[in-house]
Amino acid sequence: MRVAIGDPIATRRSRTSFLTDHLPELDRRWMEEAIREAEAAGARGEVPIGALVVRGGVMLARAGNASVGRRDPTAHAEILALRAAARAIANYRLSDAILYVTVEPCAMCMGAALHARVARLVYGCADPKGGAAGSLFDLARDPRLNHRIPVTAGVSEEACRILLQDFFRARRAGPA
Ligand code: ZN
Repeated sequence: MRVAIGDPIATRRSRTSFLTDHLPELDRRWMEEAIREAEAAGARGEVPIGALVVRGGVMLARAGNASVGRRDPTAHAEILALRAAARAIANYRLSDAILYVTVEPCAMCMGAALHARVARLVYGCADPKGGAAGSLFDLARDPRLNHRIPVTAGVSEEACRILLQDFFRARRAGPA
């Protein structure tokens, strides 16, 4: 459904129904896909975090962490997914898109999500040591920024958290 450009009321109504269409069950289903990306990342020796970008019920992009393999400190799952989604729609603004990620994004990834103007963020488990969507910083709701991102936290929280815990436990137990 398209709305007329420059019609703020129509735009607002459309945005609202778009957001309320996303029921918890749908969030859990998409999060399952993000968890698969996280598992695949873990199997490659990366920190097991996965992300998706979904717009209008269609997955535009999916990615897992790849910093180790790419030797790239910016190759977080969210960054890779946002880049691929923007390429897929040939637009760096992802205004009607939802970013799903298994773990609360860091400051860099929240910065990218803000630049992309994503409509919503859904994450699995919080990251008390580095999360920038409410834990350590709250870049999603900072009134000084010119964009706000509604956040749904704790979707499939346990599965996302256990993946991380198992990964770090195995790494600590592994050969030095
Ligand atoms: Zn990040």
